[in-house]
Amino acid sequence: MTHRFELVGDTKVAIFDGHVDNEIIAHTIATYRTQKKNDEPFGLMNLNTVVEHFLDWKLQLPRVEPFYAVKCNNDPVLLKTLADLGTGFDCASKAEINMILDGNLAPTDKIIYAHPCKTRSFIEHARKYNVKMMTFDNEEELQKINGLYPDAELVLRIAVSDPSAQCPLGIKFGCEPSEVAPKLLQKSAAMGMKVIGISFHVGSGCNDPAAFQLAISYARNLFDIGKSMDHDMYLLDIGGGFPGNDHEKFSRFASIIRTNIDEYFPPSENVRIIAEPGRYFASASISITTNIISATKVPASRITKDDGDSDKDGYMYYMNDGVYGSFNCILFDHFQPTGRPLFPSSDIIPSEEYPTTVWGPTCDGLDQVEKETKMRRMQVGEWLYYPDMGAYTKVCATNFNGFEPPTYYYFMDNTTWSYMYAMENGH
Ligand SMILES: *Cc1c(COP(=O)(O)O)cnc(C)c1O
Repeated sequence: MTHRFELVGDTKVAIFDGHVDNEIIAHTIATYRTQKKNDEPFGLMNLNTVVEHFLDWKLQLPRVEPFYAVKCNNDPVLLKTLADLGTGFDCASKAEINMILDGNLAPTDKIIYAHPCKTRSFIEHARKYNVKMMTFDNEEELQKINGLYPDAELVLRIAVSDPSAQCPLGIKFGCEPSEVAPKLLQKSAAMGMKVIGISFHVGSGCNDPAAFQLAISYARNLFDIGKSMDHDMYLLDIGGGFPGNDHEKFSRFASIIRTNIDEYFPPSENVRIIAEPGRYFASASISITTNIISATKVPASRITKDDGDSDKDGYMYYMNDGVYGSFNCILFDHFQPTGRPLFPSSDIIPSEEYPTTVWGPTCDGLDQVEKETKMRRMQVGEWLYYPDMGAYTKVCATNFNGFEPPTYYYFMDNTTWSYMYAMENGH
């Protein structure tokens, strides 16, 4: 495949002439590595996927400005691509705010400091750099902000949660919307603090879009209450929770959100509507390819826990990325990745599948990536492919036990590159 390299920020991105996908590129890189006796795991970031998700967002939620949630994956190329597409950013710490400001990725009115319980020195830092928009959900925080940054533009976060979400957030953040929220609006007004809007987060990996409907209706009510107290309410922040690797599910969410924002916040009212998608942009763009470093045959019963399988064969594989690396999402994000052999079976490698456990490389028993799956026989040195590994993975990876997280490669096709950068000189 012919390609050239271009820089996105400081990083080289391969630009391919034709259409490319992660798995095809993984084939090429894995083949090359095998020849060079390099068995290290690698990550691939497909920037086309990021752009496609952005365009789909614009199409399906044209009234909602995405502010990408940096914590989901703070990869500099991902951040730069999103910035070049024109998204804003949701930051939760001084370091995340600095990442956006230092890289000149967005003006300050496209940054929201979306953490309801902030470190005091971080609030001072936000004031110094004029990052005005910030969330709060309790009176003590209101007093804290009043003391440190009285000009801040506050967004009140309410708790409306889908209890079936992959990672519910309503227990930790957000105030009760019908009794407590109006009191907080009242307290803010009495202190002379500006509340500009309402935010919520229905839970990361939301499964029930009705949570958005309920939250938007609460927000409407609070807009009216806030306005009656002379708050200049103009910002609705519908948070995160959008699916990243299920287009049909996203469309269902978008349709419900569209209907409800049009009903409760008609365009004529000129409310600025933003969202804080993380997973939506990061998940599907990244795949991880690992190498099998060890393989053992075991009685299948050891995997299936079924005594009837004791005279059948099962296999345990140990690969060189695991729960302490990219696969920490199993613990922190409650996401269960599913891998497959990167290369198909052949005359030498039969396609018959066996009960299989896949382990990470460290000496910890917790480091188990797939407890019970089905896979053809794999040999040491073969590659496993894991799609949808971009959300809440790289950001938390450690090098525990001396196993380094994968290195990343970035690519985009030429059509997408032209779409993004054709107007600039030099490309
Ligand atoms: C984590 C987080 C997000 C992103 O959530 P996703 O489910 O990944 O879209 C958005 N807003 C806030 C305040 C968060 O804490």
